[in-house]
Amino acid sequence: MIFRSRAGEPLRHDARVLSVLAAVIALVVFLIDAFTPLDIAIAVLYVVVVLLVASTGSRPAAILTAWSCAALTVIAFAMSHDEHYSGGALARCAVSLLAIATTSVLALRNQKNTATLQEQLQLLDLTHDAIVVYDMNDLITFWNHGAEALYGWTAQQAIGQPIHELTQTHSSVSLDEIRSEMLRSGRWQGELQRVRNDGTTVIISSRWALWRDAKGKPRAVLATNNDVTVRKQMEGELQRQKDELRATIDAIPGMVWSSSSDGRLSFINRRWNELGVTLADNDGDIWRSIVHPDDYSAAQHAWNQAIATGMPFENVSRIRRSDGVYRWMHIGAEPLRDHAGNILRWYGVNTDIEERKQAEQALERSEAFLSDAQRLSRTGSIATKLPDGEMWWSDETYQIFDYAKHVTPTFRLILERSHPEDIALVRQAYQQSLAGAPFVDIEHRLAMPDGSVKYVHYVAHLAASQSAHPEYVGALMDVTEGRVAQEALDRSTAELAHVTRVTMLGELAASIAHEVTQPLAAIVTCGDAALRWMNRPQIDLKEVGQSINQMIRDARRASDVIRQIRAMAQKRDPSQAILDLNAIVRESIELVRRELDGHRVEVDADYACPPPQVCADRVQLQQVIINLVMNGVQAMSGITGRPRELRIRTRRFDARHAQVVIEDSGTGISEENAGRLFNAFFTTKAEGMGMGLSICRSIVEAHGGRIWAESQEGKGAVLQFILPLDEGTCHEQ
Ligand code: ADP
Repeated sequence: MIFRSRAGEPLRHDARVLSVLAAVIALVVFLIDAFTPLDIAIAVLYVVVVLLVASTGSRPAAILTAWSCAALTVIAFAMSHDEHYSGGALARCAVSLLAIATTSVLALRNQKNTATLQEQLQLLDLTHDAIVVYDMNDLITFWNHGAEALYGWTAQQAIGQPIHELTQTHSSVSLDEIRSEMLRSGRWQGELQRVRNDGTTVIISSRWALWRDAKGKPRAVLATNNDVTVRKQMEGELQRQKDELRATIDAIPGMVWSSSSDGRLSFINRRWNELGVTLADNDGDIWRSIVHPDDYSAAQHAWNQAIATGMPFENVSRIRRSDGVYRWMHIGAEPLRDHAGNILRWYGVNTDIEERKQAEQALERSEAFLSDAQRLSRTGSIATKLPDGEMWWSDETYQIFDYAKHVTPTFRLILERSHPEDIALVRQAYQQSLAGAPFVDIEHRLAMPDGSVKYVHYVAHLAASQSAHPEYVGALMDVTEGRVAQEALDRSTAELAHVTRVTMLGELAASIAHEVTQPLAAIVTCGDAALRWMNRPQIDLKEVGQSINQMIRDARRASDVIRQIRAMAQKRDPSQAILDLNAIVRESIELVRRELDGHRVEVDADYACPPPQVCADRVQLQQVIINLVMNGVQAMSGITGRPRELRIRTRRFDARHAQVVIEDSGTGISEENAGRLFNAFFTTKAEGMGMGLSICRSIVEAHGGRIWAESQEGKGAVLQFILPLDEGTCHEQ
């Protein structure tokens, strides 16, 4: 049996034609039967009429036709035979009626069977699947609604067409192979690509079944087709996304993995392969083979804990690379849970932290170095965040302040340790830093709980900070030892200066004696004169008064000289005062006047105008000038043949300094000696101590000045020093 198309409009048209044809045949048969004297059973031909009407498929029409034909047979019989019936005629009429009845019954039964089959065929239209039947020449014989919807051709258009040409069937396997497979097994299923009526391409999932007739001869193929284009596209998209995800996971610079809920590895990304690990090794314990033996048990313990508790897993271990080198890695994993909270899988990443580890170790090392250096140098660090003043102290800072390390560092703690006299200074520096001063530099004292005093030097600068808030980074240095040593040095320098002064006074004894005895002699002379004026008969009080005034002036002069000598001989701490530099130079020259005269030295003094004001210790300043003058005198003592000239000048050196220049015409200073002139104990004199210039330099430098010598050998020397001009900052004592 070969299926034919479903009934439709054309079939209704055929029915009408058949009905008309049947009516015409019936009429012709009736006319012949009724009006011709033929002795044949012409009425038998009514079966053709019945069959024609029955073939239209209408049961009532078929029944009506059967009865009508029977009636026409009887009527024709009656009309053609009057009341004389021959036996033959009756027999022909009976045969005709029997033939009509038999044909009608068979036609009706056939019609019923056909209707049943038609219904079954219509059922095939209900399915969404596209069902197509084609014969062994690939010509379509059945095309259901599903096929119409899928391919876009109506059954009428499709039936009779070669299926594969119509739909441009394309398959990964050749059609011949498919056909032979189907002939062999009776079935085939697979995917085909076809082109629809509208030109679009569809992917079809097709299942074929071969129908053989009773003799086993292949007669037709029934194909059930489903459009899987969307599913295919989705599968393709899914695959693309999977590939993309996989590529992304492979690109992650870490070893990505997942494991079953019991911890067995089920996925590893490409990085693992770079380590020489594949999942094929999963029979053994991959972790044991790659984690450093020293780290393995701790890592395994942590992993077992995580699996048991479901808490996220974290561990740092050394992992072996394929070249055998171990690298530090951070291993982290999170569980994936179902709705009920049961762990489905674990997802983990091993991140290479070798560089970080090395940096940490380097940091630890440098922190250790720094802490050692801080301890040895007694220097602590203080970081202060602005604007709230949050602080961080290094260990050595705690040590310097003598606070326990757990104490939170604050400015209040610093104030508590600050010496009461320095609190204002410290507070001021702190305010400056809060106000954003770029640099803070203070030295102050700390009053420690045990009653001792520490000297600290704090230097801080505003650091370029990564965060939004600026930060002061500072160093706090315990300078107590240096301070104490400096004070001791200052003391011994002062003592040395005193000793050299006394020595110098010894050298100047003759001058001094002259300076004192000369006014004393003048006083005696004036006293004698006054007495004489008084012993006259007429006392000349005016002369007496003049003599007494002279005496007072000379006595004052002697007392001044003695006061100066005493001051120089006295052992006392230096004291600062605003001094007229010109006056000091003048006084000093007066003190050594006799030495100058004794050595026939001509003094040429030239004083700056206005007189420069300096902040200095009077006695020390005199000591420097006298020392330089005496050195000049001594350098000229052996000179003959040229005038012994000593030029003394005061002048402004620059906007902030005054200068004293003492120039002689003595021996000068050799190049060799020039470098060590100011060294202690350097002397070229048989009786010399070699301390004079060394003391001069320490005095000048202690006053914030500088001293130096210039000379051309044989032409005399120029010794000069500068001192800062008083700028109103002198703390007179
Ligand atoms: P002293 O006078 O006891 O030698 P000083 O320190 O005052 O010690 O001087 C050191 C040396 O510097 C002197 O011995 C001398 O050689 C040299 N000197 C100092 N001043 C002069 C000068 N004006 N001209 C030449 N040499 C000088």
